[in-house]
Amino acid sequence: MTYNDTIGQLPTPCYYYNLELLDATLKNVLKESSRYPGFHLHYAVKANANPVLLKRISRFGLGADCVSGNEVLRALECGFSAGKIVYAGVGKTDREIETALANDIFCFNSESLPEVNVIQEIAERMGTKARVALRVNPNVDAHTHHYITTGIEENKFGIYLYDLERVIGVVQKFPHIELIGLHFHIGSQITDMNVFRSLCLKVNEIQARLAQQGIAFPHINFGGGLGINYDQPYEEPVADFKNYFATFARFYEPLPQQQVHFEPGRALVAHCGDLIAKVLYVKEGKKKKFAVLDAGMNDLMRPALYQAFHKIENITSDKPEEKYDVVGPICESSDCFGKDVLLNGVSRGDTIVIHSTGAYGEVMASRYNLRELPGVFYAG
Ligand SMILES: *Cc1c(COP(=O)(O)O)cnc(C)c1O
Repeated sequence: MTYNDTIGQLPTPCYYYNLELLDATLKNVLKESSRYPGFHLHYAVKANANPVLLKRISRFGLGADCVSGNEVLRALECGFSAGKIVYAGVGKTDREIETALANDIFCFNSESLPEVNVIQEIAERMGTKARVALRVNPNVDAHTHHYITTGIEENKFGIYLYDLERVIGVVQKFPHIELIGLHFHIGSQITDMNVFRSLCLKVNEIQARLAQQGIAFPHINFGGGLGINYDQPYEEPVADFKNYFATFARFYEPLPQQQVHFEPGRALVAHCGDLIAKVLYVKEGKKKKFAVLDAGMNDLMRPALYQAFHKIENITSDKPEEKYDVVGPICESSDCFGKDVLLNGVSRGDTIVIHSTGAYGEVMASRYNLRELPGVFYAG
């Protein structure tokens, strides 16, 4: 049976993961990062917290980057060692902080002084010490979609540069906090290496400024954000890790012995997943044709949430191409996967593949409209 025949027989809507491609991606990211001693990887669990994928990723020895207490627990269950878990997020609850401390994770990436205060109090109560890196908002524009830009001063993330020395001064006096580094994460789906170059230069500057005051940290964390090629999933199935790490190696000036951390999410898993759907109806308007799928925005939120583009293919038909608006069944106008999409002539029952949905796909699925959650299947 061919790959497309297999896909055609799956109950839909469902996510279909290519675990061989995941392995190939993990091998590549390890090969490219290991060229540079002191580079460490933490997979951003929020991109896809599916245990089958997580176990695969932990087996390759990566650490985990978590943004909730439950993600910390899931990462531990799936084989990530606590000593390689970092934990970020602007709104950590007391209970989540306790969970992370009880499991002795490697580091909290802390987003504000009030938060470090609470971590100090909880660590004191638990008779332990918390390792903390301060998440800094470096005011570098990621030039990506507004909703996935996180490193400019108008958004809620991180400690602002003008306040950094004051915060460091206060935190260094906390007896139950060990301040070990700085953390940066400026946005997502970044494919222009000049953006990472700007980040490196900015961090060099910040580090030089701190050095004048005798402040130096053993760890720097550059977050995630490396993008993938959504337009050409077949031509470029693995993200450009080579160029990515080379950019940091070339432009970032680490302090002696400093360890450099990265938190890729999307780049590791996006191409490994497709959303498979069937056509329920073809509807013809005066000016448009609609392909109504059995998958909706509850299964894949990215197009509705941030106008994300996914390559869409009709794998059943070899009829001439026509333009369709590809929509879901949900009562929201934003329940649309793509407008004016060129597809081979569509009929009821055809199988549609929505490509590169392995990141921020399944993990965001909801039961809106009381629909079932999408199915999940694996190849390889
Ligand atoms: C979301 C997130 C990541 C991963 O981002 P990608 O664009 O998926 O690589 C890494 N670090 C932090 C702190 C995040 O919030």
